[in-house]
Parts: sequence; structure tokens; C-alpha cells
Amino acid sequence: MATCDVCGNTYDKSFTLTQGDRSGTFDSFECAIHAFAPRCAHCECTIIGHGAENNGHFYCCAHCARKSGVIGLDDRI
Ligand SMILES: [Zn+2]
Ligand SMILES: [Zn+2]
Repeated sequence: MATCDVCGNTYDKSFTLTQGDRSGTFDSFECAIHAFAPRCAHCECTIIGHGAENNGHFYCCAHCARKSGVIGLDDRI
């Protein structure tokens, strides 16, 4: 039994997630995504796919990277 860091729910199937030197305990992937997923620097949506990274900024897609002035990131179409 562990308590979710995000919503405070205590759940017997909670899990811990570690990324680099930070970790958290969550009762659901939704809460884990809320706490851990990067946000697109252009549209601010939560990036739960691969996304794209440039200079420490994350983008959900090449379109958003391009809109923010990043050149050379392309989606495969
Ligand atoms: Zn939760
Ligand atoms: Zn975006």
C-alpha cells in the first residue's frame, strides 16, 4: 500500500516511477503523467508520446517545434 503523490489516494497497486534523480509514487498512470510528463513549449499539451527535444525545450510534434523557431525537426509524413 502506498499513497499517490498527486491525488493522495492510497491504493494497493500503486507504483513508483524514477527518472534521473527524481522519483514519485502514483496510483495511476494519469497521476504519473501529470507529475512527470514534459509539456510542449509551444501548445503546452502534455507529451506522452516520444515528442521532440531541442535545447532543453520539449515539443509534442515537429509543427510546434517549427512554430517556436526550431529548424530541422521533422515528423515523418
Ligand atoms: Zn493519484
Ligand atoms: Zn505542441
